[in-house]
Amino acid sequence: MQCTTCQSDNVQRLSLIYEQGTHNIRTTGHTTGAGVGIGRGGLGFGGGSATTTTTGKSQTIAARKAAPPDKKKIGIPFAIAAVGLVLMPVMGTPVLLIALAIGGFLFWKYSQYNKNVYPPLYAAWEKSWLCNKCGAIYQQ
Ligand SMILES: [Zn+2]
Repeated sequence: MQCTTCQSDNVQRLSLIYEQGTHNIRTTGHTTGAGVGIGRGGLGFGGGSATTTTTGKSQTIAARKAAPPDKKKIGIPFAIAAVGLVLMPVMGTPVLLIALAIGGFLFWKYSQYNKNVYPPLYAAWEKSWLCNKCGAIYQQ
């Protein structure tokens, strides 16, 4: 497997770069605070601590660049329709009809995209290689 631009064999599959550079992270932070105060009644002491947990995805810059194409999120059209449903009692039936029309249209467009456009994009991504020497991305 050689780079088509510079013939280097220092190449990597995009899908592998993406996998290696993406980690699910979970970090726990611990904060402790203490305070001493002198008031009218004498000496007071207060202490407190808090624990925060953060979860998420950690990605290297290389992994972000090597990320696969995104599917359209079908949830968005449903959310629009749901908003129409919520607003209907307040704003009347037309708002629901408009929301359903927009939601339905988007749903149709997104389905078409996910069915016809996305698979070839994803297949191309799976066959894509990155040259570590000249930075070229090519398919093989
Ligand atoms: Zn190259």
